[in-house]
Amino acid sequence: MPIRPLSETVINQIAAGEVIERPASVVKELVENALDAGARRIEVATAGGGLNLIRVVDDGTGIPPQELPLAVSRHCTSKLSDDIHDIRSLGFRGEALPSIGSVARLSLSSRTAEGDAGAQIVVEAGRTGPVKPVAANRGTTVEVRDLFFATPARLKFMKSERAEAAAITDVIRRVALAFPAVRFTLSGTDRSTLDLPAVPADGEGLLRRMGQVLGREFADNALAIEAEREGVRLTGYASIPSFSRGNALHQFAYVNGRPVRDKLIAGAIRGAYQDVLARDRHAVAVLFLALDPALVDVNVHPAKADVRFRDPGLVRGLIVGAIRQALEEQGLRASTRGAA
Ligand code: ADP
Ligand code: MG
Repeated sequence: MPIRPLSETVINQIAAGEVIERPASVVKELVENALDAGARRIEVATAGGGLNLIRVVDDGTGIPPQELPLAVSRHCTSKLSDDIHDIRSLGFRGEALPSIGSVARLSLSSRTAEGDAGAQIVVEAGRTGPVKPVAANRGTTVEVRDLFFATPARLKFMKSERAEAAAITDVIRRVALAFPAVRFTLSGTDRSTLDLPAVPADGEGLLRRMGQVLGREFADNALAIEAEREGVRLTGYASIPSFSRGNALHQFAYVNGRPVRDKLIAGAIRGAYQDVLARDRHAVAVLFLALDPALVDVNVHPAKADVRFRDPGLVRGLIVGAIRQALEEQGLRASTRGAA
């Protein structure tokens, strides 16, 4: 067979293989888009563990009708100009909507504050329809039906509806910790529901959001963590040693507001507690790192949950030092100040 370019739909399905692993990945991408659009209220509804339906309604900026075809086109984004080193939004790859549209039935309805009428575009298994007028509130509604109907091989790998619904809840809880001033709701036919009312975007608000997401008990057993070194700022809360868990699933880490799963951060938390926790026990922690976007690479994997720090040693030292100091100040750990 001669060499020829892949079709747009196949290109998008290949990207979907990496970006959209399961229904929870769709929810993550759509909620990130709503947050990037400045939404204050994000409503998520699902059916069938997200495989039958995922609907995300936001009150953000909206998309002008003439830009709807671009929004569902590959590598089209309003977020990144020409500098991959200066990423300040959650999205930047221009991949999520076209990927979803290539493996599901996607409808995008939106109205901007300026635009007097709403408009809608539909993509089904990679086929994009015309832009049509539609009644809409200010903001954007995205509906995804029959996820993976166009890629049956992926559909076969889905776990039970219950497991997928649980993963969706987890995504929302995780992102909600970083955006206390945004109201999140989750509802639908799946049993898991959430209602996280907006709270102030300050330290007090964070404590209340942690109470909503992780339970009051954590908020009552957490030490405030705060440190800064060479332009890297660390804030958040970490549990006292007696409030530990049998796994590390209760550790939440964020880099410039982005939820990340990072071995370096997980290792630093383990290191901070190694003298005070048994090896099979894990602290509960919510940690935020803020640093110049040029000092961290988020363009590691299409799902954007991996990061690479320019100076990993600095980040590790900052986390270990700050947690140990907080433990020492409470007399929960012998002082090692002065030791290396
Ligand atoms: P990315 O987020 O990387 O830019 P997406 O495929 O997720 O790529 O979205 C493409 C574009 O569509 C975004 O850059 C944005 O301009 C627009 N968009 C998507 N979702 C929303 C939303 N909920 N509100 C406003 N604009 C949106
Ligand atoms: Mg996006």
